[in-house]
Amino acid sequence: MSDIIKKEDQVLLFLDSRRTYLIKVKKGQDFHTHKGFIHLDDVIGKRYGDRVKSNLGVDFVLLKPTIRDYVMKMVRRTQIIYPKDMALIVLHTGIGPGSKVVEAGTGSGALTSYVAHYVKPDGCVYSYEVREEFVETAKKNIEKAGVLDYVKIKNKDITQGIDEKAVDAVILDLATPWLVVPHAYKALRGGGTFSSFSPTIDQVVKTVEALEEARFVDVETIECLTRRIKVKRDQTRPETFMVGHTGYITFARKTL
Ligand code: SAH
Repeated sequence: MSDIIKKEDQVLLFLDSRRTYLIKVKKGQDFHTHKGFIHLDDVIGKRYGDRVKSNLGVDFVLLKPTIRDYVMKMVRRTQIIYPKDMALIVLHTGIGPGSKVVEAGTGSGALTSYVAHYVKPDGCVYSYEVREEFVETAKKNIEKAGVLDYVKIKNKDITQGIDEKAVDAVILDLATPWLVVPHAYKALRGGGTFSSFSPTIDQVVKTVEALEEARFVDVETIECLTRRIKVKRDQTRPETFMVGHTGYITFARKTL
């Protein structure tokens, strides 16, 4: 992996953790911020981690975007899966390089991009989305995140069935996951993992009941709360405001 920034590379311009800009390095162009503009020609040939000055003399750090940066900067057509929840989904589903994963609904493509990032270079994500109008935005978002090669988007209703067989994981973020459970059972390999993200507890109860009926084991539902800590000598404490709720995540594994 090259440390040197070339034209057309994507770079995260970092002013502070609240003010970051994801840009593509275009020859001969300027990028404007409220702290002045940056000549993108000045960025070419620098290394990730270097600094560049705006015309007002303000320093920006040049960072290599992570999958989290790409997702947090995506164009949103739907609610997206947040990093705190995704981290747990990756660990509990056991996905990794080479995994074959079925996922739905694609929505804005945030979850799809995360999964694709973890299964590359030889894995694949089959992502189902029932609403055609979401497919194009999602594709653009996934492409920008650099992982479209590992994704196949299918404009289909996943409650009607899953085409793939012997998959390693089925990962859901849609309104009626319990209707997908019987199809997930058929699509998964023995021991394959199921994961479903739902904002409401009513969805969770129906999904867990369906999983127990369908011979899944290790059924577990969790919620993840994260608190940001303000760190400063003699003033260190949690920040006053936090995100109170995103959703519950249910996990299970298939028995034969
Ligand atoms: N996980 C996505 C957001 C999903 S929002 C992200 O991180 O960006 C839920 C999506 O599921 C919506 O786009 C909706 O159209 C889609 N959906 C709902 N029911 C579906 C079904 N039965 N089959 C396929 N997609 C479905």
